[in-house]
Amino acid sequence: MVDLLPAQISIWQHIEAVAREHFRRAAVQEIRTPLLEVTELFARGIGEATDVVGKEMYTFLDRGERSCTLRPEGTASAVRAVIEHGLLSQGPQRLWYGGPMFRYERPQAGRQRQFHQIGLELLGVADARSDVEAIAIAWDLLADLGVGGLALELNTLGSPDDRIRYRERLVAWLEAHRDGLDPDSQARINTNPLRVLDSKVPQTQATLAAAPPLAASLSAESRARFEQVQAGLAALEIPVQLNPRLVRGLDYYSHTAFEITSSQLGAQATVCGGGRYDGLVQQLGGPPTPAIGWALGMERLVLLLAQMPAAAAAGAPAPLDLYVVSRGEAAEALVLPLARQGRAAGLAVECDTSGAAFGKQFKRADRSGARFAAVIGDAEAAAAEVVLKDLRQHQAEQRLPIAALVDWLVQQRAGGSA
Ligand code: ATP
Ligand code: MG
Repeated sequence: MVDLLPAQISIWQHIEAVAREHFRRAAVQEIRTPLLEVTELFARGIGEATDVVGKEMYTFLDRGERSCTLRPEGTASAVRAVIEHGLLSQGPQRLWYGGPMFRYERPQAGRQRQFHQIGLELLGVADARSDVEAIAIAWDLLADLGVGGLALELNTLGSPDDRIRYRERLVAWLEAHRDGLDPDSQARINTNPLRVLDSKVPQTQATLAAAPPLAASLSAESRARFEQVQAGLAALEIPVQLNPRLVRGLDYYSHTAFEITSSQLGAQATVCGGGRYDGLVQQLGGPPTPAIGWALGMERLVLLLAQMPAAAAAGAPAPLDLYVVSRGEAAEALVLPLARQGRAAGLAVECDTSGAAFGKQFKRADRSGARFAAVIGDAEAAAAEVVLKDLRQHQAEQRLPIAALVDWLVQQRAGGSA
């Protein structure tokens, strides 16, 4: 688990601000659910046979002997909340969430045990256009952030019936080709056979080249639906790479499955993953409700944007307007009232309350990145004035009445840095 230090935080805030704005424009509202849920929610929602539930969850007994789990993903919690509060009776829900998720994985670049996601869930819409809209929101958000080398990989998992039919064919085929599979994949044949397709082991991938494709088990309806999604994406000029091997790790997906990758990430290339999960709401005790969603990994996005100077600069915080330097009892008494007045007027003000020598305080003023320093010594305090230094343009100092300083700085800022 990783600390996010002040020097890294501006890029996070930038991503969050851009995401929030994209969601606002798309009429998507935020939902915040607890980090802790009863374990059963994930076991039932995500599926016992998945990696996430099988080996990645942080699960413990609380003092009431209930099994609790730190959320490994956001969809099950969002769906639980929507059901619990009857939100679907008000019509389709367009929701987003953001925050930490927890998975007990082997930590490496772009993979942590506490990581952060931003996710979208569109609940109550079955039409292929909602798949297209959900994908477009993710694509446009990533493009707007300036992420390079984006690719959208798309597949369909078909209807639950298609999947059952395909699963039978696949299990039979995998059994017959067991020797060509790695041990992990062999173990999955009967628990989660579709996941075998997703194996990263080269030998297994070579074996799978001859496996029956899911496409051959699709009903005509599922095929038509998949074509609608592709046509919708083409109409939005979002390029698609069909990937018949893309199955996604969680059990609840049907029809559309997709991932957005970036060629600028290393081994952990997937920034965003999602798909349709029409069965989940009902499985968790709600009314039958079609749904589609995605989640993007913040850490991977931050890794990508940190490589791009333009994006990093866009995330840089606005500099301080004023740093107040003071020395002597009368001067020091004026500092906090001045800072407070400036802050109330919208200025960013830091004051040095160290009582150190002027030289030391000046050094800190320079390091602070502030545009101006206001200096108050005994003489200034007696005259109710400040000496104002321009820390960036090194023009001559000027004297201003303390009472006029905040207005002067506000005007200065409105006029730009001229
Ligand atoms: P992967 O195959 O990389 O493990 P996943 O299929 O488990 O991904 P999802 O559950 O779809 O991932 O989560 C969506 C996104 O969240 C991923 O595409 C990735 O960007 C991010 N993510 C998932 N797990 C982690 C993690 N442990 N650390 C950092 N980011 C993660
Ligand atoms: Mg994973």
